[in-house]
Amino acid sequence: MPLAAGRHHVAIPGPSVMPDRVLRAMHRPAPDIYSAEFAEMVHGLYPDLLAVARDTEANVAIYIANGHGAWEAALINVLAQGDRVLVLSSGHFARGWAGVARALGAQVEVIDAGPGGALPLDRLEARLREDRHGAIRAILCVHVDTSNGVRNDVAAVRAAMDATGHPALLMVDCIASLGCERFEMADWGVDVMLAASQKGLMTPPGLGFVFFGARAAEARLRADRVTPYWDWQPRAAPEMFYQLFGGTAPTHHLYALREALTMLVHEEGIESALARHAVLARALWAAAEIWSRAGALEIAVADPSRRSHSVTAFRTEGDHGTRLREWLAAHAGVTLGIGLGNAPPDTPDWHRLFRIGHMGHLNAHMLLGVLGSLQAGMVALGIPHGAGGLDAAAAVCAGS
Ligand SMILES: *Cc1c(COP(=O)(O)O)cnc(C)c1O
Repeated sequence: MPLAAGRHHVAIPGPSVMPDRVLRAMHRPAPDIYSAEFAEMVHGLYPDLLAVARDTEANVAIYIANGHGAWEAALINVLAQGDRVLVLSSGHFARGWAGVARALGAQVEVIDAGPGGALPLDRLEARLREDRHGAIRAILCVHVDTSNGVRNDVAAVRAAMDATGHPALLMVDCIASLGCERFEMADWGVDVMLAASQKGLMTPPGLGFVFFGARAAEARLRADRVTPYWDWQPRAAPEMFYQLFGGTAPTHHLYALREALTMLVHEEGIESALARHAVLARALWAAAEIWSRAGALEIAVADPSRRSHSVTAFRTEGDHGTRLREWLAAHAGVTLGIGLGNAPPDTPDWHRLFRIGHMGHLNAHMLLGVLGSLQAGMVALGIPHGAGGLDAAAAVCAGS
């Protein structure tokens, strides 16, 4: 019996659910981009973005771009031809960012922990101690790798760098974590952090953010690949308003972002939003732990302390991943995420995988709806699973 009519829920890890208020904020005629009202609205976004990044001293450049654009923008402003960078990889997105660095002419070294693996910080330390002349200009890592749901310990990366006294910049991709996971740009000594609008920030895809501190601003002075559009300097410190966006402002995205930041920073508050993500993630893990007792499905990252609060990747037996995705979309009105970046499409491994995005505008009833639908799917498809997963998730939401 198809039960999919009603409001569909897209539980993929970005674009995440956009609040109705955010959508309504965009439903307006073109504003006068030369008006004082518009400029005031735009200028008001910056302190709120810095509050989310937790570094009131940082600069932020906003690009009309997705996360891939932010990757490129971040690198182009600090690298000179032939510079060496070290990428700490635990998945698809770190490898993707490494590829951008390579394409920009950097010499890229990768310390690969494997998908979802713990970053080998002893190897990082050893490599930095060996690099006596400071050839390595930057350490790149991804806070949450969306392909497998691992959360890397950025503070520990900084501590390992500090232990060696190495001067490399620390650059972090927070696209899947900003607004969902604790991230302390100032306290953790992060030099460059990048994000995008469509995940924890609840805004349509199309805005990329590059936050940078004083040491990164200094590195910009010797970068030799900077092009006018990607230069972060005029965007972060414009002499004329239009320089903020290198041309016409992305007006409607900015109204959407204004509404989303009002909700996140001024209404719910960042600490409450982080706590909400943590509890909802624990509810999901509690259900999965019980289901997995019958062996047909498990969370890709085994250690709960390294799991993200914004996205969870599952591994199943056989083609249960694809069958569940198809059943939930057709019968329950829920779209689950594909197993991006872990196997080529349409291979047996591909069909084993699925992901759930639980980032941004998500409350208990939405998450419990996804989990209840998943449990119904396992029953309908005859997929073996431990009994009581949904009860365990409800208990976490109940605060027990
Ligand atoms: C989504 C994502 C990206 C890519 O962002 P796009 O907006 O799709 O270009 C990069 N890194 C991480 C960690 C992501 O989650």
